[in-house]
Amino acid sequence: MVCKTFLLKYGEIGIKGKNRGQFEDVLVSRIRHALGSVEGTFDVHKEQGRIYADVLGDDDSFDPDEVIAALQKVFGLVGICQVMKVPLEDADEIAEDAVRFIAQTYDLTPVENPEEGSGENAVPDPDAITFKVHTRRANKHYPVPSMELDAEVGARLLDAFPGKMKVDVHDPSMMLYIEVRDEVYIYSKILPGPGGMPVGTNGRAQLLLSGGIDSPVAGWMIAKRGVVLDATYFHAPPYTSERAKQKVVDLAKLVSRYSGPIRLHVVNFTQIQLAIYEKCPHDELTIIMRRYMMRIAERFAKEDGSQALVTGESIGQVASQTIQSLVCTDDACTMPVFRPLIGFDKQDIVDLSLKIGTYDTSIQPFEDCCTIFVAKHPVTKPRLEVIQKSELKLSDGIDEMVEEAVRTAETIEVGI
Ligand code: ATP
Ligand code: MG
Repeated sequence: MVCKTFLLKYGEIGIKGKNRGQFEDVLVSRIRHALGSVEGTFDVHKEQGRIYADVLGDDDSFDPDEVIAALQKVFGLVGICQVMKVPLEDADEIAEDAVRFIAQTYDLTPVENPEEGSGENAVPDPDAITFKVHTRRANKHYPVPSMELDAEVGARLLDAFPGKMKVDVHDPSMMLYIEVRDEVYIYSKILPGPGGMPVGTNGRAQLLLSGGIDSPVAGWMIAKRGVVLDATYFHAPPYTSERAKQKVVDLAKLVSRYSGPIRLHVVNFTQIQLAIYEKCPHDELTIIMRRYMMRIAERFAKEDGSQALVTGESIGQVASQTIQSLVCTDDACTMPVFRPLIGFDKQDIVDLSLKIGTYDTSIQPFEDCCTIFVAKHPVTKPRLEVIQKSELKLSDGIDEMVEEAVRTAETIEVGI
């Protein structure tokens, strides 16, 4: 019998007091969504402060690795256990099931009808699995105390796998968990979940998503705290290609594996960039451009019902990310701007992008709208008054250009 139940452990939302039920409901719906794209039919439900996903149908109707990979992208989960679920039965039968579980999970062949107590004296193999049984009797009506069940199961495993298993209560390489509830759950591996909070429990934000390494990671980090994401991407055709845009769509798709669907607004920024290039001092190009990006992203944020903007900026990474530059950028919008990577070194960001699977796409060499109109010597300590004054040079026509950019933006629903 294959283990067809997944016991899903959650972290932080467990301490949410009165609102805990609501958080759990969101988590359940996120799990259902994640399993929606996995082969198999699943029944996801909560029960006594636990969440379970039962596989319905035949044993071979699902691929455990695929299920686990999908669950490891659901924020809010801290542990994923594939468990054997058996009916509430007497200790002898639970011990029998534990033997079957170990045989199956660790690919061992049990001795048939061993003599009781024979395993205790067997000489352990050098590579014997050291283990400890840990029983939790949540169902207090069950007559056998936990410690007795521990001992019974432990002894039976030693008998069934002589030499192959060895009790070590201090530093076991394997814990065998037996949970006695309305049914009995047997498992030994707790795979890590991604942590965080379920997406949908903490509002909504607009991510400024470029084709670089940083912004997808920034989006992932904010989604991890339970925030629903939408995104805005600025491109500059014909200076940037269709391929560059596709790369950003691909990145949004990769982030959406964790965050759920993303509404991606693709804004044609060419006119605005050309106007800035023609009329403003070249060393201020990037800052002024960034300010218009913030303004336009904020428009979409309001349209989408978001409360904040998100960028992939990090202090000092480039000229447009010095403290003085960030002050100038912030001034252009009224919403709070979340910069989750603000204190990260580039290598930390690269490591995270590798972990979440966006790195390979991010490093594809396609031109970005910012790099095309970039100055040789950008200001590193811009002064807000100076920047504001330079922007006045755009007053003839810029508002219309912004309106046009918002109006003609293409919206792509990613990851549905
Ligand atoms: P990234 O990997 O995010 O592109 P970067 O080091 O290239 O980072 P910048 O180009 O200075 O950084 O951009 C800083 C931030 O501004 C990005 O993280 C992103 O949030 C936003 N941004 C930059 N260019 C664009 C764009 N073309 N469309 C949308 N947002 C952008
Ligand atoms: Mg960039």
